[in-house]
Amino acid sequence: MPIAQLPAAASTSRSATSGTVPPRSSARLVDGDLVIGGVPATRLAARFGTPCQVVDEAEVRRRVRAFREVLPEAEVVFAGKSLPCRAVYGWMASEGLSLDVCSAGELAVARSVGFPAERVVLHDNVKIAEDLKAALAYGVGRIVVDSFDEIAQLGALAGPGQRVMVRVTPGVDAHTHRAIATGVEDQKFGFSLASGAALEAVRCVLEQPGLRLAGLHCHIGSQVRRVAAYEEAVRRMVGLIAAVRSSHGVEVAELDLGGGFAVPYLPGEDTFDLVGFAHRLRVALNYECAAHRVPVPRVLVEPGRSLVANAGVTLYRVITVKRGVSRTFVAVDGGMSDNPRPALYGARYAVRVVGRPTPLRRAPATVVGRHCEAGDVLAEDVSLPADIHAGDLLAVPVTGAYHHALASNYNLVGRPPIVGVLNGETRLLVRRETEEDLLRRDM
Ligand SMILES: *Cc1c(COP(=O)(O)O)cnc(C)c1O
Repeated sequence: MPIAQLPAAASTSRSATSGTVPPRSSARLVDGDLVIGGVPATRLAARFGTPCQVVDEAEVRRRVRAFREVLPEAEVVFAGKSLPCRAVYGWMASEGLSLDVCSAGELAVARSVGFPAERVVLHDNVKIAEDLKAALAYGVGRIVVDSFDEIAQLGALAGPGQRVMVRVTPGVDAHTHRAIATGVEDQKFGFSLASGAALEAVRCVLEQPGLRLAGLHCHIGSQVRRVAAYEEAVRRMVGLIAAVRSSHGVEVAELDLGGGFAVPYLPGEDTFDLVGFAHRLRVALNYECAAHRVPVPRVLVEPGRSLVANAGVTLYRVITVKRGVSRTFVAVDGGMSDNPRPALYGARYAVRVVGRPTPLRRAPATVVGRHCEAGDVLAEDVSLPADIHAGDLLAVPVTGAYHHALASNYNLVGRPPIVGVLNGETRLLVRRETEEDLLRRDM
């Protein structure tokens, strides 16, 4: 079948993770179908139903390899919360990545695929006793401590030699949405650098006989576009490494800079400059370490979104079209239960009709979901074919990260499946949630 190049797919890449909004392997056929990982969207919808989350395995692996190639000296840790599922954790394990988990639940998924324990990092500002115990039982490589209470609790539970990192709030504004800005002062994550709490936390870790200081950690936010924000974090964190040495007489061996590397959600949006980041990170780190006369620590990075977001496409069926006074509402069979990001962050998406030839004439429309909330909007003010009607199939790209992860069963709508595609083959990774699943917990 002849292939017409999509405008987004034709754009040239500027760095290793840049490129298209949909997975690179996707292409639009002249009959209007969209091929993802070699499989037509219409066939995926017919076989697995809608809504359906499709993940292109080759795209994930390509992005993983790009990261490793650009930062060979760093340990790349997949932020497992962005797409928690066994298959994906398995891909990351096979690519040699490490994995960060935020709970005993995510750890259970890692354990079920035999993810090497020494490459697992446990995170989060609240870890309940079950999380800590599960992590210790599995023997995770590192636990990132986030509060004084936690240091004491972990110190009491851990056997000798448990490696920990101290999460620091470096006071760097990453200029991202408030809900995902985690590096600024006065929010719930980490120990403040400015107040001296971070240095004090290091002292508390060193006093615990069961704990060993592996390094320092910071995560300045998510969907961060500016490399300069990371440079500033490096500058401040190396200053802290020097302070740790002068106050406590220990060398910090590892510096974890977190994740947050931005991805494009709409055609034409900038991609994070990964090559530039790697270069400027090295320069800043070497310069600051030389200036403070401390050894250069080993670097860790924790990408989540930038590895999986652009590998995902969600398919929806149009159930009804309402032509209002000033706008057209296109209502689909999913909504805020499978994608709460527009409601949480005002996230925007490009939407297209697939599976049939569409007329050139287009009209503004708002794509809404099936849930009982007026805020249940998937895409506001998008341009869709003027003849859009019930039964049309919609494809929404860039849904690989924080979609399955954030899904709920609001209105007791079962969560959609995840279907993996690779070179024309499909594999059901997570099945659709059934009524039986929903009833099982309700006693
Ligand atoms: C969420 C998170 C990440 C990943 O963020 P992305 O924006 O998905 O890259 C990394 N580290 C920590 C500590 C996080 O909380």
